[in-house]
Amino acid sequence: MNCLQSPRPSVNTESHLLQVADIAVEVTRKRIKHLHIGVYPPEGRVRVSAPMRLSEEAVRLAVVAKLGWIRQRRARFAAQPRQSAREFVTGETHYFEGHRYRLDVIESAKRPSVRIRNRAFLEMRVPPGADRAAREALLYRWYRRELQARLPALCAEWEPIVGVKVQELRIKRMKTLWGSCNAKAGRIWLNLELAKKPPACLAFVLVHEMVHFHERLHNARFHALMDTAMPKWRSHRDELNFAPLTHENWKY
Ligand SMILES: [Zn+2]
Repeated sequence: MNCLQSPRPSVNTESHLLQVADIAVEVTRKRIKHLHIGVYPPEGRVRVSAPMRLSEEAVRLAVVAKLGWIRQRRARFAAQPRQSAREFVTGETHYFEGHRYRLDVIESAKRPSVRIRNRAFLEMRVPPGADRAAREALLYRWYRRELQARLPALCAEWEPIVGVKVQELRIKRMKTLWGSCNAKAGRIWLNLELAKKPPACLAFVLVHEMVHFHERLHNARFHALMDTAMPKWRSHRDELNFAPLTHENWKY
């Protein structure tokens, strides 16, 4: 199942727009007890999940009461560093395990390689004349190797905590999901982009997918299992979603 999406839900056909001051609010009626307001990256879209019976006016008032908070969240998204399309040239900023590095591209007849130098540089040795695609491919091969190397230990650490056995763990470049799984087959896919994110974020995505082996839906049981396995999962999720966005503009 496709599940761990970044926090921007797809547009629900049963939702409608409610204009509150200068903000267009997407309202979705659900069988829930309490109203929930969310502000989502990258543009700061505002979504409200409202109980079926709550009047439109009550929804409006609830949004008005939270306007200050909504504006604050939106300002935070606007100020968030957003990576532009990468050229893979010297001087560019690239991320690895949550840290930022300056790319240093060195043309060399030796074997192509990537390494962290002085905890500040991401040094790439490329054949003379290597084009953008070749430089990108080299860097992503390195990301994949680094991520792959961390997975067995991470799996071994979390399997007994979640109480599942992962049969197969695959890394994939995905445009819209951080992770997904096939619970029946015990298979988990992780997004290669996670190589760039803080280790806690990687663990969070892995644990989220593992918990799906017990519970398919994102329901109360799922969240209770998450709370037990990883009490701080919400802060890891937020960190993941506030980490610099790639130019790909995550859809969730
Ligand atoms: Zn999920």
